[in-house]
Amino acid sequence: MRRTRRHPARRHVPLRHPRGARRQVRAALVAVAAAATLAFTAAPSPAASTGASPDDSTGASAGEQRGGRAWANCPNGYVGLTYDDGPHQTSTTALLNALRAGGAKATFFIWGQHADQYPDLLRSVHAAGMWIGNHTYTHPHLPQLSESAAYQEIANTQSTIQRITGQTPTLFRPPYGETNAQIKATAARLGMAEVLWSVDSRDWNGATTQQIVAAAATLRAGGIILMHDGGYRATVDAVPQILSGLAARGLCPGRIVAGAGGTPVVTAP
Ligand SMILES: [Zn+2]
Repeated sequence: MRRTRRHPARRHVPLRHPRGARRQVRAALVAVAAAATLAFTAAPSPAASTGASPDDSTGASAGEQRGGRAWANCPNGYVGLTYDDGPHQTSTTALLNALRAGGAKATFFIWGQHADQYPDLLRSVHAAGMWIGNHTYTHPHLPQLSESAAYQEIANTQSTIQRITGQTPTLFRPPYGETNAQIKATAARLGMAEVLWSVDSRDWNGATTQQIVAAAATLRAGGIILMHDGGYRATVDAVPQILSGLAARGLCPGRIVAGAGGTPVVTAP
């Protein structure tokens, strides 16, 4: 089960990292990958959950018929699609439309300051049934902040998201994937599990649509892919091909939840 060579994502996660942080990130990524493997082996038959999809009997609109595919049939398990840094004026609505057209849900890790700037866009993410996570208020390098400043970054974002959507996030993603035990504990204190990723689309680094699609093609059951709601056209354009690629491999977009010990796992939506 070799990791592809074309996608050095796991080796290059954060560009702007001091060495120590990068080492932590790599360790954390390995943890995510291990958890993914565990999640997969611990759930022998993700497809065995139920028979018919609830949508089978409802008159879902054409756009919600999952592009002709039934996500309820997931013989090979679930993966987490994640979009960081939004809401964004030029990409949020387009991403929501693309995901909806494929009947797919994703997790949006919200940049608090952007939510305050574009509250209607955050409301539309919530209204579309997407899952919403906390990505700090100003997107700082958290390990460089004092404990109280880091706490404020995360807590302010919780209250911003609560105020705008009425929902309290249970998932947290540190900017640049930079974290440490204290940051993880702070997130836990605020009721959130920390979520990193197993695949980096590198859309933040100018990846093309085809490169993003190829990165998603390396996702395995339980895996999580990092993408951005950051105004990138290539990321929006990649959605239909990512979804058809998953369907072809018997994988489905799933929901990220906190598993045992706060380790994220990807489950049925
Ligand atoms: Zn970010």
